[in-house]
Order: sequence, then C-alpha cells, then structure tokens
Amino acid sequence: MRQKIVAGNWKMNNTLDEGLKLTTEIANMVADEVRGDVRVILAPPFIHLSQVKSLIKDTDKLFLSAQNCNENESGAYTGEVSTSMLSSIEVEYVIIGHSERREYFNESNEQLAKKIDATLSEGLLPIFCCGESLEVRESGDFISFICNQINESLFHLSTEQFSKVVIAYEPIWAIGTGKTASSEQAQDVHAEIRKYVASKYGDKIADETTILYGGSAKPANAPELFACPDVDGGLIGGASLKSRDFVDIVKSF
Ligand code: PEP
Repeated sequence: MRQKIVAGNWKMNNTLDEGLKLTTEIANMVADEVRGDVRVILAPPFIHLSQVKSLIKDTDKLFLSAQNCNENESGAYTGEVSTSMLSSIEVEYVIIGHSERREYFNESNEQLAKKIDATLSEGLLPIFCCGESLEVRESGDFISFICNQINESLFHLSTEQFSKVVIAYEPIWAIGTGKTASSEQAQDVHAEIRKYVASKYGDKIADETTILYGGSAKPANAPELFACPDVDGGLIGGASLKSRDFVDIVKSF
C-alpha cells in the first residue's frame, strides 16, 4: 500500500535544546491531532538524532531520518557518518540526494546510487530526492532530466529493494524560495515519475511507490498539493521548523 508521509528536513538549523523543544511540541500535537495513517518523519541534524529518538520512541506515528550518510562502511572518512552508525541508534530513514547536497557537495547520481545501496543494506529506508533547476525547467526537458536522476541512482535496484524507496520530487526553483510549484505542475511530474517507475518495475510497484513533493510547502498550499492523486505527502524544509505549521501541513490530507 502507498504510504502517506510528511517529513520535516531541519537542515542545519536548531541547537540541541531547540531541536528537543521542537520535537516535544510536534510529538504532543501529533499524538492529539494526527490520524493514524500518516507517517510523520523528523530529519534533524546528526547530533540531535539520538536524543530525538528517545523523545519519539513510544509513539507509532513519528519516525526518524538522517539528512545524509556516507556510502562507505567505515574507515578514514573524517567528519562522515555511516549507515551502520545510523541504524545503531534506530534511525529509520535517510534523505539521499537533496539538491543542496548535489549542489554544495557535488554529489553525483553515481555516488548517490552507492549511498542508496549503503542505506538499504543496513535496513534503512531511503528518501531519494530528485528535481530540476529553473534553467532545466525552462529548457522544457525537465522530465527526462528527472528520469535520468532516477535511472542512474535507483534503477540498478532489485524490485524488492526498490519497493523500500520513497521518492521526493523537489524542483530546485521552489526550495526555500517561497515559490511553490502549482498543484498541476506537481501532479504532472509525479505522474511522469510513476509512469517511469512502472516502465522498469511494473504497475503494481509504481502504484505502491510513495512520491513526496518538496518546495515551499506550507499550511496554506499543502491541502491542494496533497489532494493530487499522485502526491503522497511532502518533504518540508522551512515550515518544519515551526511546530504549528508543520503539524498543520501533516493534517492537510
Ligand atoms: C527542502 O529543503 O527539502 C525543502 C522542501 O525546503 P522548503 O520547504 O524550505 O522549500
């Protein structure tokens, strides 16, 4: 079954105290207000993960994600974090290939394929980000650009492995800009992604794949985005730093 998900990507924001306060607020609101079929994922910075886990481990609605991982098992990679370290503190998801990682840390589709493999081999669930820049959008060739990202980073997976992957479509021109894709633009791309997944893994797997939208989603526009038949939730940046806004987005289905 396709899982409804709203994930909050805190990026490099919040001290530990601030992060724990935000987690407590979200956990309380989610317990009181959120229906059971929506999975809420928090993706704080690495140093928050362990303590955020302690705060959410007794609820079955909240899950934990890292924002990145290293593709190697262990060794001399100063400053990096492996997937076995993440699974040792019961992290469940890892965001892979966020556009900020692609742009500022030069992460290629090929490297991301290795990160996907490292994630799955530890039993972690990848949230794989794809999406085009404004330049690519205006060239008109953005669907083949996105399909190529998916092909090069995901299509080496077996059907069983692929069935664990969540895809997040995040047009770069909409991330942190306040300029959201319209619900028609989001639906069109999500439908194309689903069609492309079906061409490789078949209709059943494609139908069960969760595809999130990300890019300036907020309480005011989330209901229209989440009402689209191929939009299964959101990856939320800025609005995930305010508990009320984030939980209102979660309640937008
Ligand atoms: C993101 O960074 O994944 C994102 C969607 O950010 P924002 O919601 O701030 O546009």
